[in-house]
Amino acid sequence: MTEHTLTVAGVAVDTRHWIGGRRVASAGTFTDVSPIDGKAIGAISRGTPAEAAEAVAAAKAAFPGWAATPRAERARILHAVADGVEKRLEELAIVETTDNGALLRSHRRGVMPRVAHNFRFFADWLLTLDHEDFDTYPSGGSAAGRGHTNHVSWDPAGPCVLITPWNAPLMMASWKVAPALAAGNTVVLKPAEWTPLTASLLADITAEAGLPAGVLNIVQGYGSEIGDALTSHPDVRRISFTGSVPTARHIAASSAPNLTPTSFELGGKSPLLVFADADLDLAVDLAVEQYDNAGQVCLAATRILVEEPIAEEFTRRFTEKAAGLTQGDPRDEATDVGPNIHPRQLEKIDGFVRRAVAAGARTVIGGHPGDGQYYAPTLLTDVAQDSEIVQEEVFGPVLTLQTFRDEDEAVRLANDTRFGLAATLATGDHERADRVTAQLVAGTVWVNCFFVRDLQAPFGGSRESGVGREGGTWSFDFYCDLKNTVTAPKGWKHHG
Ligand code: ADP
Repeated sequence: MTEHTLTVAGVAVDTRHWIGGRRVASAGTFTDVSPIDGKAIGAISRGTPAEAAEAVAAAKAAFPGWAATPRAERARILHAVADGVEKRLEELAIVETTDNGALLRSHRRGVMPRVAHNFRFFADWLLTLDHEDFDTYPSGGSAAGRGHTNHVSWDPAGPCVLITPWNAPLMMASWKVAPALAAGNTVVLKPAEWTPLTASLLADITAEAGLPAGVLNIVQGYGSEIGDALTSHPDVRRISFTGSVPTARHIAASSAPNLTPTSFELGGKSPLLVFADADLDLAVDLAVEQYDNAGQVCLAATRILVEEPIAEEFTRRFTEKAAGLTQGDPRDEATDVGPNIHPRQLEKIDGFVRRAVAAGARTVIGGHPGDGQYYAPTLLTDVAQDSEIVQEEVFGPVLTLQTFRDEDEAVRLANDTRFGLAATLATGDHERADRVTAQLVAGTVWVNCFFVRDLQAPFGGSRESGVGREGGTWSFDFYCDLKNTVTAPKGWKHHG
């Protein structure tokens, strides 16, 4: 162990940046704290604007070589990264749980396998993006364009800055890093300052997999201190960000002088619509599932909208089911709801709940913090549509319940926020599902299911929930410079 290595649950984690294929230490550090017990994990390099610029320079220097690397070779290396993730799955799972407090059992069985899958999927998907050729569409008898061919190619764009949040650190990082690298771009990844650890392990894994130096760079530190150095840098060709709306606005402004293309995945206040014809057990399961990750999920359906005739029965069954949730140490297999990320976040959650109650909301369950950094799963009802608790993202285990009389009112309430990330429907009627879905403003609609995310599908939010879509071909639309080459039938020198 060196002074720059921490041992986290038995796993060695380097605390420095990863720039140009080597570890770089900052003069200053910040303290990483575990939400499980509020204790310090250790000191992490606190990046400076100069170090951020160094990382962009490394990404720029590595770009021509990586962009020229044949697609199949890039794919081979990304599969080797996935192998490395699978090999170190247990270590990644326990380090992530220690760092962000999400359930160890989900990291083991869901999240980390998905991280590996992200690398495999985007490596393979790139190979399906054939260079496309087509003849010019006949244009009203004009001679121009006759016999010409078009050739579309997916060119790498250049260095990309990828900024990720703390609620699903390595999952979000891999969701951006994998397509960016597959496309032939180089990357500067900035993990959230509350969860710096698994990104550092990813650096080790990519190095072992043979990813050339400078292709992936990682800078640790506070977004407020190094964000601008990354997002306003003229050599950066793409910025993909997942986080809060105010930070997205800031990044949009700082990247504007260079017109750097951005992709934003932001907050949500998604509805779960439960119609009287729904399978009620399924609807209750879907509702209780919204407490996953202690409610720290941008996609969470935090507004439960129930058709009037079944509201009482739904609430009774929901309360019964939620009472069976076990809250506690996320490393324990029996735990369903873990801690919230930070004391500041806990205060924020409690503030939302207290203001809602003061404004007339009734607490059905929860409504208070637990011991340590935990918040009791909470359901509030008697809430006004225009109230803060219905309109603003809480990012904690807090749900609201409202009722509706008919389909029109359900749709009106569902769409009546600034957001449009996702919506979930519980209904037994196919036609109703089609009618309602057509009217919802949401990047993703789930019908009688939740959180099923196929990597081929476009993912992102409408309104203030985001800009752009990533996933499958949409990821490559964003991370590539599409080029169309038009070739005339004449003008060739004939040989031989
Ligand atoms: P939250 O409020 O959920 O923590 P943020 O949007 O502040 O969400 O954080 C998400 C990510 O954005 C983190 O990696 C954070 O460091 C980064 N970030 C924060 N401020 C900036 C900024 N001004 N420029 C770039 N990135 C930033």
